[in-house]
Amino acid sequence: MYQAIIKEIPEQVRPLFNQGKVADYIPALGKVSPMKFAMAAKAVSGEIYYAGEVDEKFSLQSISKAFAMILAIRMLGDDLWQKVGRSLSARAFNSISQIEEYGGRPRNPFTNGGAIAIVDLLLTHDVHYLESLLILVRKLTGNRKIDYDRSVAKSEKEFGHRNAAIAYFLKSYGILKNQVEDVLDAYFVQCSLAMSCNDLSRSLLFLANRGVDPKNETVVLTPQQNRHLNALLMMFGTYDGAGDFVFRIGLPGKSGVGGGIAVIVPGKMVIAVWSPALDEFGTSVAGLKALEIFIEKGDLGIF
Ligand code: GLN
Repeated sequence: MYQAIIKEIPEQVRPLFNQGKVADYIPALGKVSPMKFAMAAKAVSGEIYYAGEVDEKFSLQSISKAFAMILAIRMLGDDLWQKVGRSLSARAFNSISQIEEYGGRPRNPFTNGGAIAIVDLLLTHDVHYLESLLILVRKLTGNRKIDYDRSVAKSEKEFGHRNAAIAYFLKSYGILKNQVEDVLDAYFVQCSLAMSCNDLSRSLLFLANRGVDPKNETVVLTPQQNRHLNALLMMFGTYDGAGDFVFRIGLPGKSGVGGGIAVIVPGKMVIAVWSPALDEFGTSVAGLKALEIFIEKGDLGIF
């Protein structure tokens, strides 16, 4: 039944492809066609349902912050919360004023400031952080070809003045330990992770299965850590768009300005969707609609 629902979705959301805007503040992303679409749902039981270009890679951008958090939760435990809060962000993901208002402490780990602070912590604990992240992501996807897209990272760095401002601002508050340039470089490379909807839906499946990867029974997170990460994704995964996201989708999820969204359906599946044109919160317009249709018709809500 899920396959019958999903295969109708590209046609249903096509009128929305032109309603958002591709993220051209990162020039390498601005070149991607807004007509691209893919959706893949991987079930805990092993089935996969799909529509569109599910094997085409796209830039994960902020979805990479979810993978960074897996390492941060495992490596740092509660120490993590010394540097970032667990409060809703009522401003854009790259807001600077909000950091100042909150005394220099990023409101949560998924705003750009929060994610930059997490990268700093991870670099402090592991000089090979970017390699560790790649090993984790390759293991979770089961795809050894997953890699960073250095041309996207370079493009973002060249025009990443706002993130640089955020990082220097955090440094001035004593939030960052490492050199600002090193933290920024690692953050841009992390955001450049590229994978397909197929890969993405597989990689986060443990989040729908109490922290255990159902493909090989590996414990990725403990049940408590898993509950925490799902809660963080639900509350903060779409920034100041979270109110609308939780109202329409009602599940933990993470967006990225590459146009991808990953959604966790506890106990059942992970849905990954990709459509590059974004709304004002940096969330894919057609992707969000596609998720709403699939969850509604598939009766996948948890409430
Ligand atoms: N790399 C992007 C940035 O820092 C990620 C933002 C996003 O995907 N929301 O601006």
